[in-house]
Amino acid sequence: MRKKISQNHIRRDIFEREVIIAGKRSERPGASVKKRKKPRKEECPFCPGNEKLTGSTVLALPDKKNWKVRIFPNKFPVVFSNSFKSISRHPYKCFAPRGRHEVMVETRDHNHEYEDMKLEDLSLVFKALKIRYEELMCMKDINYVTVFKNRGKTAGASIPHTHMQIIASPLFPEIISREMDESEAFFKKEKKCGICTVVEQELKYKERVVTHNSDWICINPYSSSWPYQIQFMPKRHFSEITDADDSELENLARIIKKVFMAFSKIFEDLPLNIMYHNFPKSELWHFQVHLYPRLMTQAGFEFFGLNVNTKTPEEAAAELREAMKHLDDNQV
Ligand SMILES: [Zn+2]
Ligand SMILES: [Zn+2]
Repeated sequence: MRKKISQNHIRRDIFEREVIIAGKRSERPGASVKKRKKPRKEECPFCPGNEKLTGSTVLALPDKKNWKVRIFPNKFPVVFSNSFKSISRHPYKCFAPRGRHEVMVETRDHNHEYEDMKLEDLSLVFKALKIRYEELMCMKDINYVTVFKNRGKTAGASIPHTHMQIIASPLFPEIISREMDESEAFFKKEKKCGICTVVEQELKYKERVVTHNSDWICINPYSSSWPYQIQFMPKRHFSEITDADDSELENLARIIKKVFMAFSKIFEDLPLNIMYHNFPKSELWHFQVHLYPRLMTQAGFEFFGLNVNTKTPEEAAAELREAMKHLDDNQV
């Protein structure tokens, strides 16, 4: 009988599909199928005063003692550096999951979501992200820094206190490399960045534009796979968050907050995922932020990569624009 495999590892099959196997993560709070009560503030590891319950701070803004944003190593990492013994047999391959998996707690307030946060505090989140992203990208053996947010249990969040996750690893995500290939093909044909073209066209026709400000546009993408799927794009061409200046980071906070406020008018506690698509600096690739409300569960057909979306992007955009009409302008 083979020994039970408990160490995290990366598997690659004959189709070059890669997966991180991280058995330990099933021990994290809320990961089991058993129902678990929402932790109280006193026992929340992300609340101020409970810092000892997490890994030590790697970055805190404005400072370690009075932090408003705090980054530390994830207690249940999917990647980390340690000694590793391969367990693969032909035709499969197996690798050490080297890298860093960190958590960024985005506010001191246990109950605040983006829609409740002050604009200046949400801007600090993106400033911290820019700093840490750059530091991680400079580290040895790191090929890509994945930045994402899970909100709500059905979207994979095990702790309700609002936070983002950052995974820096030698792996290059398939979605990102596919987007890069397709953007490059578009550029070769049209002599122009694909997303710059999307920004221009969407602003011209407006039917899928949810909102926009001087630096960013927010749309329900033309071929949204999910109801109310959102895409944020900078109006100026740049490839990764390190290229955004202070005003662009502030306006990113402004537009994201506005969308969260609109969602909170339509849904109660909408579970969602946010993904930051960073690319190597180039005229070919354009930074994007994707937001996926988790209103549907994936069915068999979707596992073929073919989604059925029950809400047209044009209807979703109109509904969100309507919800935005009733927002308090002082808050956004
Ligand atoms: Zn908390
Ligand atoms: Zn562009």
